[in-house]
Amino acid sequence: MILPMAAPDPPNTLVTPGVPAIPEGPLPVVSLKEILDRAFAERYGVAAFNVVNDLSLEAVIAAAEEVRSPLIVQTSVKTVKSIGAPVLYGMFRSMAEPATVPVTLHLDHCPDREVLTTCLETGWNSVLFDGSALPVDENTRQTVEVVAEARRHGAHVEGEIEGVRGVEDDVGSDEEGEIHPLEEAVAFLETTGVDCFAPGIGTAHGVYDTEPELNPQRVTDLVERVPIPMVLHGGTGLSESAFTDLIARGCAKVNISTALKVTYLDSTRAFLEANPAKYDPPSLFRDQRAAVKEMAERHLTLFGSAGKAW
Ligand SMILES: [Zn+2]
Repeated sequence: MILPMAAPDPPNTLVTPGVPAIPEGPLPVVSLKEILDRAFAERYGVAAFNVVNDLSLEAVIAAAEEVRSPLIVQTSVKTVKSIGAPVLYGMFRSMAEPATVPVTLHLDHCPDREVLTTCLETGWNSVLFDGSALPVDENTRQTVEVVAEARRHGAHVEGEIEGVRGVEDDVGSDEEGEIHPLEEAVAFLETTGVDCFAPGIGTAHGVYDTEPELNPQRVTDLVERVPIPMVLHGGTGLSESAFTDLIARGCAKVNISTALKVTYLDSTRAFLEANPAKYDPPSLFRDQRAAVKEMAERHLTLFGSAGKAW
């Protein structure tokens, strides 16, 4: 007699329709897409902090664990070059693997294909190929290549056709990038198959000297045509209502770079001014870590990702 086979266990799913299933087993370092697709479906934002060293890396992971949020750690090309890809990646793996929240490693604005290849080969989970200084046709052609290259490593790609105003870690320009017609952006997304996109919406890198004039409708228009997560650059200094509005429209990845640098260096200055004769680096590190961790917790909570770790 042939016994009927036992039915397999039902798949482990979240209650929200359209949200990917929870992976089984221990939490590995996860892909950018796993983090962003959930955030996009539920319309919360996940902060992507530009870390600059081991201390800031450890502090943002600790913050994400504290508020139970998924986390995107990102590195500028400058940081990759200053620490070196293998050491930086080793630091990331050794701190992220024991973390109890989903964490992923992303390369921010990278116009340099060689650095991009190095990071993908080393193990970064995703990259932003920044071809915004190129004509859109050439940017599209190269982004198609980058997507194919990333896929071979199981990695994901953020695309960009409009330069975000402001130089950040030696990349970019102080000129406002040209804003392309919606159709051109849609064609770029459809041709390249990028996993997320950084649209020009009037934000800028660095510290705002005047109130930025934002174009949130562009996020809505893009998401309506191509429903993929959008990325908010130049977030430092935006009002809380601007953040929550842009996230509700589809900005699932919110980059935070300047706020981390300002927090880090302000805490350093405060410590040195308060303790001019104290030659004790670990005490300084403790204050820096506490300040960066608090800044990160505040942003994760504001963007709605607190409590969303799986
Ligand atoms: Zn940026």
